[in-house]
Amino acid sequence: MSTNKIPVLDLKPQYQALKNEIQAAINAVLESSQFIMGPEVKRFEEEVAAYLGVKHAIGVNSGTDALVIGLKALGIGEGDEVITTPFSFFATAESISNVGGKPVFVDINPHTYNIDPKAIKEQITSRTKAIMPVHLYGNPAAMGQIMDIAQIHGLKIIEDCAQSFGAKYHGSCSFCQESCQESTRAKISDKLTGTIGNVGAFSFFPSKNLGAYGDGGLIATDDDKIAESARMLRVHGAKKKYRNEILGYNSRLDSLQAAILRVKLKYIDEWNQGRCRVAKTYNDLLADVDGIITPELADGHVFHQYTIRVLDGRRDSVKQYLAEQGIGSMIYYPVPQDKLPVYQGQYSANAVSDMLATEVLSLPIWPELKEADIKQIAGKIKEILTCVNLG
Ligand SMILES: *Cc1c(COP(=O)(O)O)cnc(C)c1O
Repeated sequence: MSTNKIPVLDLKPQYQALKNEIQAAINAVLESSQFIMGPEVKRFEEEVAAYLGVKHAIGVNSGTDALVIGLKALGIGEGDEVITTPFSFFATAESISNVGGKPVFVDINPHTYNIDPKAIKEQITSRTKAIMPVHLYGNPAAMGQIMDIAQIHGLKIIEDCAQSFGAKYHGSCSFCQESCQESTRAKISDKLTGTIGNVGAFSFFPSKNLGAYGDGGLIATDDDKIAESARMLRVHGAKKKYRNEILGYNSRLDSLQAAILRVKLKYIDEWNQGRCRVAKTYNDLLADVDGIITPELADGHVFHQYTIRVLDGRRDSVKQYLAEQGIGSMIYYPVPQDKLPVYQGQYSANAVSDMLATEVLSLPIWPELKEADIKQIAGKIKEILTCVNLG
């Protein structure tokens, strides 16, 4: 059988399909000479607010900035503790540290890879100010229980939605040990991630589900005060030009990126459905393979990543075998945030997160990924896991 090379991500099919629309949008911005903020950014913000069903959408320079500005707008600063997951990209914890706060890492659920609400409760102190759940790989975190905890303890919630644009919380947390209050679930069921807590922080990094052709990010909130503060913070702390009231940042969304994102926003649901189709195909093809655990096809999951667990210490050999066969794969994340050199020695172990860092393997996924390619990838995984000589 001849095999073709399959990268871990291919953004070309999407561009090819939208080429004319994208180029027209870019040209219109070039002709307008409005490169920073301006009408394209305003329209994009209005369209995202309508899509998400929130009052305010505020474009910023990156997902990282959305987290930093979101935290600042929530009043998080020096000495404040923010409870978050160790199992995420470093921007999550970095944003907390960069505003002077202290990330407090609690362990994750091995089935969802997301923060474990039970573990949150155990780490709340008088200094705890907020919870930052991450909807990792596009899978909504257990927001019902997280909302209940925040309510009881008077905490803010800032959702890291960098990987979850378009993901929906359905309240069907099949792996929850404790359920949330019926009334909470009813209130937030069918809401999109980023619209449940006080602040949602999104990234438009090119590889994300809604990706720009450069950096970009966005803050979503229903709160007028938070929105006003975030709008000031992104332009050097000024409501009016040259009347700077607080220390802020230069963190604006480019007009070019906004124009590109306006084209792409129309297709996001279709693309997310494509990702779910890819995930289901993988799960079907890998169902009878021993030595791996496939992800749950949770309601509302948008599969930013399709990530399996490879057991018995064979993850790295599977990754290498796939590479030899021309198939890309990635480890998100090889080192949990609390174990990174920057925090060396400050944190104690999180058994599940530490274990998953040695087991997770993300396979190629994008909305247009062909079934034949998925078959080829699944076939190679089966091959190495069933052949003793290759193990
Ligand atoms: C990508 C990502 C970020 C950062 O977004 P940028 O736009 O790259 O700054 C933050 N958190 C998570 C979980 C991410 O995956």
